Amino acid sequence: LNRRLAEFGTTVFAEMSALALRTGAINLGQGFPDTDGPEEVREAAVRALRDGRGNQYPPGPGIPELRTAVAAHQQRRYGLSFDPDTEVLVTAGATEAIAASLLALVEPGDEVIALEPYYDSYAASIAMAGGTRVPVTLRPSEGRFRLDLDELRDAVTDRTRLLLINTPHNPTGTVLTREELASIAELAVERDLLVVTDEVYEHLVFDDAEHVPLASFPGMRDRTVTISSAGKTFSFTGWKVGWITASPELVTAVRSAKQYLTYVSAGPFQYAVAEALALPESYFTDFRADMLAKRDVLAAGLEDAGLTVYRPSGTYFVTADIRPLGESDGVAFCRALPERAGVVAIPTAVFYDHREMGAPFVRFAFCKRADMLREASDRLSDLR
Ligand code: PMP
Ligand code: GLN
Repeated sequence: LNRRLAEFGTTVFAEMSALALRTGAINLGQGFPDTDGPEEVREAAVRALRDGRGNQYPPGPGIPELRTAVAAHQQRRYGLSFDPDTEVLVTAGATEAIAASLLALVEPGDEVIALEPYYDSYAASIAMAGGTRVPVTLRPSEGRFRLDLDELRDAVTDRTRLLLINTPHNPTGTVLTREELASIAELAVERDLLVVTDEVYEHLVFDDAEHVPLASFPGMRDRTVTISSAGKTFSFTGWKVGWITASPELVTAVRSAKQYLTYVSAGPFQYAVAEALALPESYFTDFRADMLAKRDVLAAGLEDAGLTVYRPSGTYFVTADIRPLGESDGVAFCRALPERAGVVAIPTAVFYDHREMGAPFVRFAFCKRADMLREASDRLSDLR
């Protein structure tokens, strides 16, 4: 393994899912639903396969039907206009969108600011691009992991090229507020920074939280690459269909990298996701309501088990502090958890450069059947 990648071994998700399989524990680690997405969307994929649509290389930027559906979604939902021909690019999941964006936009030595704890592929993608990551830590306060805007401002230097933002935020469940996003936008404009914003959980916001795309703030549309994915919104993580929306110049840049990573992504699934994006509003409302109910089951279970729970405003993850159990090392806790309680979770420390800041936090995924979440809660109550 070369020096750029030396610090990145096996991803924590693969390690923890393997542990779940080996021990038969309930897997609340890796974030994937245990129920597949809508039947009619699966049928759409089968129809595409049977009709011979997408069985050969689809067009490099993605099939026109999907690009049009993505643009229509951004317009309908957020009032953002993107030209499907020049301002939308289909990728192999959000993961490739992140990697291709960084490879295309970062020069070796450039600094990239990312919110810590960060989704694990950010660090590896920044490293592959030869960039230097500069973490800005979200700190728990008043029941929520918060961004300190002064700290963000202070992190920007003459070498900063790009802000890598994620809202709703994995793993903390924080949804950045309109005010926080406005400040980030102002900073980006003032310091002339590019922004890559990972909004894969855009449809999973709860209570009175609201998802506002960074691209919708003044001066942001043409400096922002917005990323989303069918894996999260339609519960098809195995299909690996994602996309970006951005200005023609940025889309062209990201596409230049993408062409040599995967060239294109799976054709038939693109047809199906185009149909999924056109599902009636009730699909999105029901999806959110279902996930909210699951959040509440798991959050209550973790509270009963004695952990301090940061009830998320978004995503399908809940972060909990294990210190009330007399524990302080989340990595050791998660390694022992399958044996102790038959549950797998992710130690949040692996998403930090400042590992000590993340040490007592553990992330649990609640995109699982309610009976599984109740069973997991029962098992966790033995921890007391
Ligand atoms: N970004 C975030 C914040 C995620 O949580 C995930 C998936 N867990 C991804 C990107 C990757 O998405 P995809 O599966 O579409 O590559
Ligand atoms: N994004 C999912 C998570 O955060 C897992 C993705 C992966 O396995 N790489 O758990």
